[in-house]
Amino acid sequence: MTLATPSKRAAPDGMADPPPLRDTLTRLGLTADKRFGQHFLLDLNICRKIARIAGPLEDQVVIEVGPGPGGLTRALLEAGAQVIAVEKDARFAPALDDLATNFPNRLTALTTDALKLNETAMLRDYAGGIGARVVSNLPYNVGTALLLKWLLGPWRPEAMTLMFQKEVALRIVAPAGGSDYGRLSVIAQTLCETRLVMELPARAFTPPPKVASAVVNLRLRNERPDDRLVAALETVTGAAFGQRRKMLRSALKQLGGEQLCRVAGVDANARAETVPVPGFMALARAWLEQSA
Ligand code: SAM
Repeated sequence: MTLATPSKRAAPDGMADPPPLRDTLTRLGLTADKRFGQHFLLDLNICRKIARIAGPLEDQVVIEVGPGPGGLTRALLEAGAQVIAVEKDARFAPALDDLATNFPNRLTALTTDALKLNETAMLRDYAGGIGARVVSNLPYNVGTALLLKWLLGPWRPEAMTLMFQKEVALRIVAPAGGSDYGRLSVIAQTLCETRLVMELPARAFTPPPKVASAVVNLRLRNERPDDRLVAALETVTGAAFGQRRKMLRSALKQLGGEQLCRVAGVDANARAETVPVPGFMALARAWLEQSA
């Protein structure tokens, strides 16, 4: 969705560009706090690349979770987005306020926990109630929880460009047949087209995390299964991947085992890891019919 307000891609005439991110951290005496999963992207070229991958963003409403000192935020603003930045750590508020001054009427910075956020109310209050996409370098410790919230919760973004630890990114896009393929892959791929679009080594971040990172693009499919079928998919994948080494006839025993597989047309001797997404949709449909 777009906003009607005119775009301003750079700082207005006479206003200096925002200072380098390292200077901002030094000036405010900010160091990374592990509790908040803080690993900063201080290289603006990388931030701009992520904004390009997420684009075109001109006049798009973008929710950014965890702006920290504001590197990606700045790249999103430069790309012409209207940004609502949601940061749990209040120490970053002054840096974000400065950035808001450089991009008048383009940035709303809120100090709150994104896990508890009511996105619909926030968009109503700050963006006239229209849809939005999410672009974020997510905190590792809550990245999967946030993705599931946006996939399964009452508010759904139009599109997402999200940085995760690489292992999680690989699980989101994994095809059937490998050890990365699991419940997250099935749910994400049922609801979205998913694509791994960028990988970053740990050294790209300050401080460097222990693992590499990757960016995933997720675009919601036009045809969404109804909520009861999605809930059934959560149940079936939970049981199947909860015991992923077992054959489906055993792993799905509580849900109907062999009979369920027969109705769904899925091999009861297969293991969850080898069943492609349409197979899980068939199992979910069969379970829904059976429990109606
Ligand atoms: N976007 C910045 C960057 O790329 O340099 C920071 C990314 S850092 C990986 C994750 C950010 O998310 C931190 O600023 C952290 O404080 C924030 N954060 C952690 N948990 C959060 C939550 N539940 N809600 C909102 N922000 C959160």
